Amino acid sequence: MKQLIDKLRTEHSLTREEYKALLSGRTEELEQYARELARQVTVLNFGTDIYIRGLIEFTNICKRDCYYCGLRRSNTLCKRYRLTDEEILACCENGYHLGFRTFVLQGGEDGGFTDDELCNVVKEIKKRYPDCAVTLSVGERPREIYQQYFDAGADRYLLRHETADEEHYGKLHPAGVSLQERKQCLWDLKEIGFQVGTGFMVGSPYQTVETLCSDLLFIEELKPQMIGIGPFIPHKDTPFGNEPAGALDLTLFLIALLRLAHPFALLPATTAVGTLAEGGRELAILSGANVVMPNLSPNMHRKDYSLYDNKLSDGAEAAEARDALDARLARIGYQTVTARGDYQEV
Ligand code: SF4
Repeated sequence: MKQLIDKLRTEHSLTREEYKALLSGRTEELEQYARELARQVTVLNFGTDIYIRGLIEFTNICKRDCYYCGLRRSNTLCKRYRLTDEEILACCENGYHLGFRTFVLQGGEDGGFTDDELCNVVKEIKKRYPDCAVTLSVGERPREIYQQYFDAGADRYLLRHETADEEHYGKLHPAGVSLQERKQCLWDLKEIGFQVGTGFMVGSPYQTVETLCSDLLFIEELKPQMIGIGPFIPHKDTPFGNEPAGALDLTLFLIALLRLAHPFALLPATTAVGTLAEGGRELAILSGANVVMPNLSPNMHRKDYSLYDNKLSDGAEAAEARDALDARLARIGYQTVTARGDYQEV
């Protein structure tokens, strides 16, 4: 089985059968082997630098109803908020002084925050901070709207596909949305010229080895510049509230496989992996992750962006605690850097 890991490292690609063999036959020894190789590849390509992104969760209003998400429109217990343009710009100002050179504007699919307004905010951020990258993560939009975001100056776009299996997609989402449309969005974003990020939850309800193989193969096909995966964590006020969370060991193994397949990708140690287990973020970094996204949102709203239960937003997850984050990373031999951290293949 180790030869499959070696093959992935050198050829950056496996067949469905080979991925299936790795996922079904994984042992602790194999996991360790993959994670160590992935760590070496990451250090070879990025050194021990960790890129930081300032996350601004600017609206938790969403018209969609994904079964796994605490922000789904049917969750009437969610306390909704939407930041004003001025509040978003204040987050950026704060973040710039803290050393952030990428701002990630993330939100639900909120029709109340218009595309024009978002374009104006992006333009203003780029005008005030020309040395910074802007990443958007606001869900599915028509191609022409993505083009408008790009023309306004947005550099990157995050849109997780969540599962690349049509049937599985149908079990995670209500009728009326489709995997095909989501994939089309990702292809549109790529063609327009965005640096694109996708990803999926590990251990979501109804996930199987086959659906995970589809995820890995789809990501091989798309070749995104950023790949974010994290364990599924239930939210009590959703239909999946009683489902078990995804496993840390499988998440780390998948991070390692993704690193070996995509040696230059920007791979975040997600908040979910830090929420699932104390030290999870560090373990993700030691398995091939090289990005962290501390929270720059106004303090008063952080708890309301509740995608899943107990989501971390303080301690080293808080942007203002960069020192705490640096101290934690120093313990494993890494350091954050003040840089845009664009995708580069060398
Ligand atoms: S996952 Fe995204 S699109 Fe789905 S309900 Fe949550 S915020 Fe909305």
